[in-house]
Amino acid sequence: GQCVAVCPTAALTEVNNVPKVWDALYNEKKFVMVQTAPAVRVALGEEFGAEPGTLVTGKMAAALRRLGFNAVFDTDFAADLTIMEEAAEFAHRLQHGGKLPILTSCCPAWVKFFEHQFSDMLDIPSTCKSPHEMFGVIAKTYYAEKMGLDPENIYVVSVMPCLAKKYEAARPELTQDEAPDVDTVITTRELAQMLKEANIDLMTLEDEEFDNPLGESSGAGVIFGATGGVIEAALRTAYEWLTNETLEKVDFYDLRGFEGIKEATVNINGADIKIAVAHGLGNARRLLEDIRDGKADYHAIEIMACPGGCIGGGGQPYHHGDMEILRKRMEGIYTEDKNKVIRKSHENPYIKKLYEEYLGEPYGEKAHKLLHTHYVKRRKM
Ligand code: SF4
Repeated sequence: GQCVAVCPTAALTEVNNVPKVWDALYNEKKFVMVQTAPAVRVALGEEFGAEPGTLVTGKMAAALRRLGFNAVFDTDFAADLTIMEEAAEFAHRLQHGGKLPILTSCCPAWVKFFEHQFSDMLDIPSTCKSPHEMFGVIAKTYYAEKMGLDPENIYVVSVMPCLAKKYEAARPELTQDEAPDVDTVITTRELAQMLKEANIDLMTLEDEEFDNPLGESSGAGVIFGATGGVIEAALRTAYEWLTNETLEKVDFYDLRGFEGIKEATVNINGADIKIAVAHGLGNARRLLEDIRDGKADYHAIEIMACPGGCIGGGGQPYHHGDMEILRKRMEGIYTEDKNKVIRKSHENPYIKKLYEEYLGEPYGEKAHKLLHTHYVKRRKM
């Protein structure tokens, strides 16, 4: 896969997790919850003969229900939650003279790379857990309480475009009371394998919706799947919080596309806020070295290890470096964003409810305990 070629992480050998998921589904004691990453829905169809970039969101939800999952949810919901925390953290650092730039932290391959190669800069990544990890915690706390479920019987499966997410789910700090936030990660290809084993022909299914409350997302949650999307999503929220004004133009075109390093400047309360995006570890290294050497003065940056972002992840249907396939997947992502009524994370009604009923303030005490993590200095490789 792509990731094997580019990232020096523990994701070098892929272990197939499909048997573990079947075991959980056959275990009657377990309440098995599934969540799907943004990039999965624009690529899964390829395994069933659809054109790259075809959106199969509704068919995928239907297929997951056929497989027997007890609740079918969406990592995009948790991407909205990540934006709440990351935008609040960014605003906090800006207003209180905190460390800048803030770096996005949802790509475990780059986080590990950073821990090895830039361990002198561990104070700049956002402390936010990645979206599927946030989902896992919320499933086993808030959702468990709401539904009267024993968290020990909840089994969380993440469907990811990514090989490094398997390693991430096993990080010891991503646990509550020694139980992992996420129990098993399968890739987009492994989900296709499960559907084939169950004789489910994805493309013939009628569309269904995700379950609630952890299945609803804004367009901002969707664009996490493409390079530049996380920082664009964060800007949509941070801008409104910092200015108290409505952001009319939510599309930040300068941050989109396949250029190795992208830049944009956004005026917030009279100050120029400088943003940069890098994808692919070579570009990431260049960007971080410029920051370390004092040659760049960005306020916020996003890094994704895979070229194109998660749409090009190592767990996706093979694309063999074909840019046309990646381009179509990227179009699929921005189409889904455009089709959403709500395009900003902080306007997602289920996210608002989660804070009102359970978490309190974004970046507050409870949110910190559940949704944030820390990084480890690792030997240079
Ligand atoms: Fe995984 Fe996405 Fe990072 Fe690739 S860019 S390693 S798919 S999180």
